Amino acid sequence: MKGIAYIISAPSGAGKTTLCRMAAAHFPEIRNSVSYTTRKPRPGEVNGRDYWFIDDETFDRMVAAGEFLEHAGVYGRRYGTSRKDLEALLEEGFSVILEIDVQGAASIRKTLKGGVYIFILPPSLKACEQRLVDRGKDSPEDIRKRLKIAEEEIKSAPSYDYLIVNDDLGRAFEDLKAVMMAQRAASMRMEGRLRELFGGILKD
Ligand code: ADP
Ligand code: 5GP
Repeated sequence: MKGIAYIISAPSGAGKTTLCRMAAAHFPEIRNSVSYTTRKPRPGEVNGRDYWFIDDETFDRMVAAGEFLEHAGVYGRRYGTSRKDLEALLEEGFSVILEIDVQGAASIRKTLKGGVYIFILPPSLKACEQRLVDRGKDSPEDIRKRLKIAEEEIKSAPSYDYLIVNDDLGRAFEDLKAVMMAQRAASMRMEGRLRELFGGILKD
């Protein structure tokens, strides 16, 4: 695969969607992967941009056909990453952000080589709650469900390659950009470019 897969997890309300959008807007070679979900769209969400919104039957069919690289039940709904969509983007040379939960990240770790795992931490659970309330798109029942699971999710943070605290958004984005730029220059990813520039010398 030519591109880099960034696997990004966080408790709900930590700000991962915001940061992932900023990264895709900043780096022309980065795309956000569009997952499939049985969750209903929130106001303002667009099919094919935010998610592919599908029903349970379609989700079952895709699972049976092996179309998902990973899939998981999160907050009472189902979410999955299309194997074909991801591989096509990586083959084209795009780096891809997969904004997925901790179960999905753990399962991808077993099958996908060379992924970069980033966990976004909120400054506190209270801040998460406040952000979800201010976002104003989830019911109080949904917010309660999400916060209850946040503690479990945070327990998985140490297994990620990078932890970014999203207290001040600008600062968190600087950290995310630094990680992405360092990955871009990592020697294992520069092999092709090195060969392109100095293939002759390397042969000696
Ligand atoms: P997630 O995708 O992790 O659930 P979002 O990116 O949707 O979270 O962010 C949740 C809410 O918090 C959004 O309304 C967003 O604008 C806001 N937000 C994101 N980062 C910050 C921050 N650093 N400080 C304050 N509010 C933030
Ligand atoms: P939301 O409903 O707030 O958009 O997302 C809920 C949770 O589902 C988040 O933790 C998000 O990262 C996760 N999620 C979104 N897409 C996928 C996916 O394709 N696979 C998995 N495993 N989790 C996903």
